Amino acid sequence: MEIHRAMQATLDNKYMLGDEIGRGSYGPVYKGLDLETGNFVAIKQVPLENIAEEDLNAIMQKIDLLKNLNHGNIVKYLGSIKTETHLHIILEYVENGSLANIIKPDKFGPFPESLVAVYITQVLEGLVYLHEQEVVHQDIRGANILTTKEGLVKLVDFSLSIKLTKADGNTHSATGTPYWMAPEVVENFEVCNASDIWSVGCTVIELLTGAPPYFDLQPMLALCKIVQVESPPMPDGLSPDITDFLNQCFKKDARLRPDAKTLLSHPWIQNSRRVVN
Ligand code: ATP
Repeated sequence: MEIHRAMQATLDNKYMLGDEIGRGSYGPVYKGLDLETGNFVAIKQVPLENIAEEDLNAIMQKIDLLKNLNHGNIVKYLGSIKTETHLHIILEYVENGSLANIIKPDKFGPFPESLVAVYITQVLEGLVYLHEQEVVHQDIRGANILTTKEGLVKLVDFSLSIKLTKADGNTHSATGTPYWMAPEVVENFEVCNASDIWSVGCTVIELLTGAPPYFDLQPMLALCKIVQVESPPMPDGLSPDITDFLNQCFKKDARLRPDAKTLLSHPWIQNSRRVVN
């Protein structure tokens, strides 16, 4: 009986499906076991009914391309498997959950500036690599930054510019998540490397306070604010260094925003490195 159950839960004779480890807006994510290597993986299960038929091949081809990306601060795409009912996206397993989960009030709560700098340094390292490979992440936010027990962070969910229907029936454009979206994306769907930098700024505020700018507003109202206001409101009591870092990320004109490599030399990042070392 038990053997039969295990066989049923095997994907393509390659991965055994284990416990559900999370749930996104497209469906569940399972822990999986690679039956050839013994490695654990994460398996994202998206119902085929949530993917437009004409997009499916493009998504699978895109995942094949993304499989070639290798960097310590990005989650590795391992492939995709289509069954009769679902598309399964196979990912490197990162054991400690997302930063968005860790800063929840019933977990550790928001972080001090120094710890935010430790994590954002790695986010920037991951972005330098992705941008060098001409990949725009398009959805930088705490929920897409996964952590290991050693304090490493890895970017996940990048660049799958696909239109999916969420489990709640809403369609979701692939250009990001409202509160973290850059003004040029909101206004003209102009996604570029600099849009990721704006989202880094929103993520810094999310990690410091528990929520990105305008999180108290409905998504549509927040999008209006992002476009109308010169730059998002700063939380109280920030140090001059982090305030300047945020001002750089929130340059309204995308062409004036520094790239990820330049931001790695920013005093807020450099000074925190000195403290950690
Ligand atoms: P959305 O669906 O709106 O993008 P999300 O990013 O939270 O939201 P998923 O990417 O589906 O949704 O992930 C859901 C949860 O599954 C994550 O919060 C995380 O806890 C877990 N998870 C996702 N990918 C991995 C992974 N590679 N390793 C370990 N856990 C993962």
